[in-house]
Amino acid sequence: MKSFLEGKIVLITGSSRGIGLSTAKLATQYGAKVILHGRTNSASLKKLVRDLKADCIICDVSNQKDVLRAVKEIVNKIGKIDVLINCAGIVAVEPFLKSSDDHWLELFKVNFLGTVHFCQAVIPYMQKAKYGRIVNVSSVRGHPVTVSNRGMAYSVSKASVINLTAALAKEYAPEIAVNVVSPGFVNTDMAKTWNEKVWQQAKSALLGRIAEPTEIAEVILFLANDKSSFITGQTIVVDGGYTLAGK
Ligand code: NAP
Repeated sequence: MKSFLEGKIVLITGSSRGIGLSTAKLATQYGAKVILHGRTNSASLKKLVRDLKADCIICDVSNQKDVLRAVKEIVNKIGKIDVLINCAGIVAVEPFLKSSDDHWLELFKVNFLGTVHFCQAVIPYMQKAKYGRIVNVSSVRGHPVTVSNRGMAYSVSKASVINLTAALAKEYAPEIAVNVVSPGFVNTDMAKTWNEKVWQQAKSALLGRIAEPTEIAEVILFLANDKSSFITGQTIVVDGGYTLAGK
């Protein structure tokens, strides 16, 4: 049986760890040729490149010039990018009244501008090919009903990714579909930043647990392939019923 990502080139930002890493492994299983991405060329990333028979680019997503250069180099080598998954992100918490501009800017540079930069770098190649699928990663924190008053800058940066996704879908239809996934609480390194109150919220989801990264990756890859050919500009919340639980 032909795997549904056979022949597709899939670039996944932030795939050295967490949800991005799970998505890269699953995309490989589904037949894709994966381009991994990390901030530094770590030993674990090098091993992953070998294990998945993948390619890899290294750059800080917040640096527009570096992103444009890295994407250009890999397209020169491989020829195209069919799917872009913007997974790189950071979380940080500062009380609102004490939060510095640096704090707000850092979250925006990585979570919002990082997504902007990769879209700017990849879309021209998708336009040329008259085909492309982009999946951005936001968070339930980017939605007013589940916003975080603890990590406001994170929430606002994630809200901006949802808005950007809709605008990009409008601008680049019909050739390029752009969607966004908003995960709830997921078992990655980010979970190490949660305090007891956040853990209680996480467990209040209707399913009574947090997600494993692969449960988010499956939804991302659904939006990344032609099985979802009539979906664009949408936000898919994958939160185990956290939003509905209303706690
Ligand atoms: P993670 O395990 O902390 O991994 C973050 C990834 O982003 C790493 O690959 C990291 O690379 C990369 N990254 C961070 N800053 C970067 C930069 N400036 N330039 C290049 N790469 C950078 O996070 P995760 O939990 O998988 O989260 C993935 C995405 O899901 C994020 O956008 C996050 O906001 C979102 N999300 C996560 C949760 C959750 O509960 N985990 C919930 C909702 C949404 P390095 O290895 O080089 O640091």
